[in-house]
Amino acid sequence: MDIKIIGAGPGGLVTGLKLLEAGFRPTIIEKQKGIVSTLCAEGLSKETLSRVPFGPWDSYAAHSFKHATFIFPSGQKAYVQKPCYTMDRTSWFRAMAKAFEEKGGKLVLGENIDEKKFSELKYDVLVDATGPLSWISRRVVGNTMKIKPGVQYRMKIDYDYDGMEFFLDKRYSDEYSWIFMKGETANVGLLGSLKQLDAFIADKKLKGTIIRKEAYNIPFFGTKMQEGNVLLMGDAAGITNPLTKGGMACCIFAAEVLVQCVKDGKVGDYDRRLKAHPVLAKEYETALEYFMQMDNAVLDRIGDMVDGEDLTHMSAGLKAKLLAYALLNRRKMTTLMKAVSYCNKYSW
Ligand SMILES: Cc1cc2nc3c(=O)[nH]c(=O)nc-3n(C[C@H](O)[C@H](O)[C@H](O)COP(=O)(O)OP(=O)(O)OC[C@H]3O[C@@H](n4cnc5c(N)ncnc54)[C@H](O)[C@@H]3O)c2cc1C
Repeated sequence: MDIKIIGAGPGGLVTGLKLLEAGFRPTIIEKQKGIVSTLCAEGLSKETLSRVPFGPWDSYAAHSFKHATFIFPSGQKAYVQKPCYTMDRTSWFRAMAKAFEEKGGKLVLGENIDEKKFSELKYDVLVDATGPLSWISRRVVGNTMKIKPGVQYRMKIDYDYDGMEFFLDKRYSDEYSWIFMKGETANVGLLGSLKQLDAFIADKKLKGTIIRKEAYNIPFFGTKMQEGNVLLMGDAAGITNPLTKGGMACCIFAAEVLVQCVKDGKVGDYDRRLKAHPVLAKEYETALEYFMQMDNAVLDRIGDMVDGEDLTHMSAGLKAKLLAYALLNRRKMTTLMKAVSYCNKYSW
């Protein structure tokens, strides 16, 4: 079967490796002359990484953490006790691309698939993994998605961190900000604008050198995943997690769905099967809306309740306390808690 994948980001590479593992011989076509990562905070859990048929990946993990930490406006901290990493994406992707070729996949570099080249492509199945700016997603498949800007500084800082840090504080971002250490440097960013990021850095008194400033789109709530045998993958599909905005795990789970459809001879089922997967759980829409409505007073009340807790093993008492607090919004809080548990498993 002639399977072509356009784009050698995490979506294209993981799909390629998983197809090889299943006995297919796909081709990946990438527009850049070499493999280079797009903007990312590079955070991923060990549990999800182990689903990628590539290893050992430890040398591409630039920083290891025993836990992720959620920090509330007044400094309360809740933990997710799960080993996780800041990956060095470019070197990791290059190593995966090399493994892809060694295992029999074909990699074509420096080939930008525009409309003319697309119309000339021969394939049985085409996977579009060209990221958030994909024209194939919009014009061939007819997908629509929401977009959130993500901004990040790569900084050299001397910082006393506590795990992989997520800041829930509406003074800086209406969603969240992050500091992910990466060896001697750190990925410091937020969902919002560069002006908001400057305010976050000033308030956190992060002193150091800014090595790089970047901004990029994060697409979510994609509506259509395929048109015939053209299948969308990763950001081209708009399947980034709506709450965490993590996209690599979504690529990994979606690649599993895609490969299973190909193996079953049911390529036409991809859209339906992916929408039935928890990666695209329907709870995310209400959960995001509810989270966006929360102000710092509400976040602090929640922070007081979860301070010092391990969110991976929330006691029945703590769950009941959270639900009781959200009495007026009990249904929404239940949905939010369900969405958060999906996030924990499927978004990083
Ligand atoms: C600020 C920020 C922080 C983030 N942090 C995290 C995080 O910590 N953890 C996480 O899991 N996710 C994070 N994400 C999301 C994550 O980076 C993306 O979801 C992920 O990179 C999507 O992978 P992809 O392969 O679908 O697309 P991309 O990574 O965009 O790769 C697309 C590839 O396709 C190639 N291409 C594009 N057009 C063409 C064409 N016409 N022809 C041929 N090739 C083409 C590109 O050159 C590129 O190599 C973050 C995103 C942002 C913006």
